[in-house]
Amino acid sequence: MKRGLCPGTFDPLTSGHLDIIERAAGILDDLVVGVALSPDKGGGPLFSAAERVSFVEEATKHLTNVTVRPFDTLLVDFAHEIEATVIIKGLRAVTDFEREFQMAQLNYRLDRKIETMFIMAIPDYMYLSSSAVKEIARHGGSVKGLVPDVVHDALRQRLARSH
Ligand code: ADP
Repeated sequence: MKRGLCPGTFDPLTSGHLDIIERAAGILDDLVVGVALSPDKGGGPLFSAAERVSFVEEATKHLTNVTVRPFDTLLVDFAHEIEATVIIKGLRAVTDFEREFQMAQLNYRLDRKIETMFIMAIPDYMYLSSSAVKEIARHGGSVKGLVPDVVHDALRQRLARSH
């Protein structure tokens, strides 16, 4: 059985992330979405780990071979813990390449039995990122279609409260 691990901060989950998760779930027997706690990323996440996990759970409930787990360890250690042998990453326009290439090399050095595989972003989501979504939402713009409905509603509530 091939189990994959799709890691990220998912602050919050976007339609681009979801597209990668759906495509990976179609290839692998089993996929675990690993939600990194990432307390320091970009000044701290907007949503708590529990909220980020629940968004992914809600948006992937139609995918029977997908489970969601938070993690706060080295990625290869987490892969071991859940017995995943392949790390799945999404790749957007050129900017992602260098960072992802470096991380894949380092993870390969840490454990040669764990392979990293990349799935290309589709053109619709090529320039979509969690930070862009937060920026648009913060300024009152519409993020409909850029994020799953559950995230759309949560963003509206969270940002309305902070105004
Ligand atoms: P971000 O890079 O937006 O902060 P994450 O750390 O949560 O997001 O990213 C997790 C993974 O999802 C990374 O491999 C990243 O390249 C990928 N990813 C992010 N946005 C997209 C997108 N729009 N299309 C495809 N892959 C994406």
